[in-house]
Amino acid sequence: MSDSFDPNTLDVSADHVIAGCRVARGGAEVPVLRPSDHAGIGVIRDAGEAIVDEAVRAADVALRSSGWASANPLERAAVLRRWADLVEARRIELARLESATSTRPIAETLARDVIRAAGAIRYFAEFADKIEGTVVGTGPDDTCMVVAEPYGIVASITAWNFPLINAVWKSAPALAAGNAVVLKPSELTPFSAARLAELAVEAGLPAGLFNVVQGLGATTGSALVRHPLVRKVTFTGSTATGARIMADAAATGTKPVTLELGGKSPQLVLEDVRDLGPVATHVANGFLANAGQVCTAGSRLIVPRRRADELIERVAGLAAARRPGPTWEDGSTLSPIVSERQAQRIERLLAETLAAGAEVVTGGRRVSTRNAGATFEPTILRNVGEDSVGFREEFFGPVLAVYPYDDEEQGIAMANHPLYALAASVYTDDARKALAVPRRIEAGTVWINTHGRQPGYGHPQGGFNHSGFGKEMGRAGLESFVRRKTLWHSHG
Ligand code: NAD
Repeated sequence: MSDSFDPNTLDVSADHVIAGCRVARGGAEVPVLRPSDHAGIGVIRDAGEAIVDEAVRAADVALRSSGWASANPLERAAVLRRWADLVEARRIELARLESATSTRPIAETLARDVIRAAGAIRYFAEFADKIEGTVVGTGPDDTCMVVAEPYGIVASITAWNFPLINAVWKSAPALAAGNAVVLKPSELTPFSAARLAELAVEAGLPAGLFNVVQGLGATTGSALVRHPLVRKVTFTGSTATGARIMADAAATGTKPVTLELGGKSPQLVLEDVRDLGPVATHVANGFLANAGQVCTAGSRLIVPRRRADELIERVAGLAAARRPGPTWEDGSTLSPIVSERQAQRIERLLAETLAAGAEVVTGGRRVSTRNAGATFEPTILRNVGEDSVGFREEFFGPVLAVYPYDDEEQGIAMANHPLYALAASVYTDDARKALAVPRRIEAGTVWINTHGRQPGYGHPQGGFNHSGFGKEMGRAGLESFVRRKTLWHSHG
């Protein structure tokens, strides 16, 4: 598919969206740079406490006046379906907007991100009238019913790596269940969320039920989490920020939180695999998709020692074929790093990891491109010691650490990271092991003979331990936006 385009022709603006209107007020101006070439493409005004309060109060008014929470769920479903139709109808506009302003290549935003965003909205539309309660046996004179109700106002805070999809996963199920949403997108990628909220209003969502506030985490994000009218917080981002958000939520009303955090996901190759060709393809895609800026990136390759050299050579060959280029050009297959700051972080982590004894097999530097944006070479490392920073922290870049093992038990032990437990993959030709080994790996998702495969809408995602808790997508993803109430009727 060919869809290269001129990113300068896009209408890019990132105001807050409150009660269906664009609001350009706020505190300090924060410049927004395009990851591919670091061109300034706009500014956001840091919302801060006052604008956050305005947005939350607008949600409160909308919840009270619209009857959204108590509406016939089929009405909510109809609005969500129209919203999905609009997202799909604006597919090219949204895909271009996302590609011009984030690290997502146009081939992927067009063929995947926008379609999946619309699909996820439809998926949750179908759930609106399937939120079930139960009747619990209590004897002839009493009836005990357990009903599901929305929380009220949900604060959603997202990361920059899949801005549109992240925003949908944190708004569509919440709205389907009858909540109102105030979303704060990452300050690095603020554009698509604002457009998404506008399309929801155009689809018939009562204004005020989906508001977007722009700004920095420490000011706007924190003010949103701490707001007294917020009843639930859902967050995607780093483990360190997740811990801060949990503390803020605890201190301001013991608000329940869902945390989708970081990972150091293993790709474990078992001895019995006959053909390393397909494995190499999955391993390369697993650590190079979005240049490794994926929470589930398969950044640790655990491989039988006697097969390590062959697999590394194959993976390195595939990695070398990736083409850096601006995200708006068809054919760019190596994403830029989201910001200069993040590129410098990768370089710092790499330098510290090498100083601690790791070796570079291939890569290790920036790619020089005709654009000013920071792009990093696909990098393969060996001897990344367990006491080094490269083992403990996410690079969140195209970096793969290889760990050879001598027997399968050792390989499985290596796959289980002491901190993170988000995702993993196991490669094997043995049907018995394909079922048994994943059960022994601590991770929210384990892929078998693939890595990072786009999940179905019904596939709940989320990790354990330092990777967070709670699920997104699937029935579980909807359940995290309702709370259960017991109704006890005594009729004896
Ligand atoms: P980040 O933690 O720096 O920021 C995430 C969001 O939190 C941003 O919107 C930011 O403004 C906001 N924020 C920062 N400090 C805050 C505070 N004190 N209070 C409230 N909000 C605050 O993460 P990032 O760099 O944007 O994203 C990369 C990270 O996200 C990686 O660690 C990655 O693994 C993780 N991630 C996880 C998943 C998942 O599903 N598990 C998905 C995508 C990304």
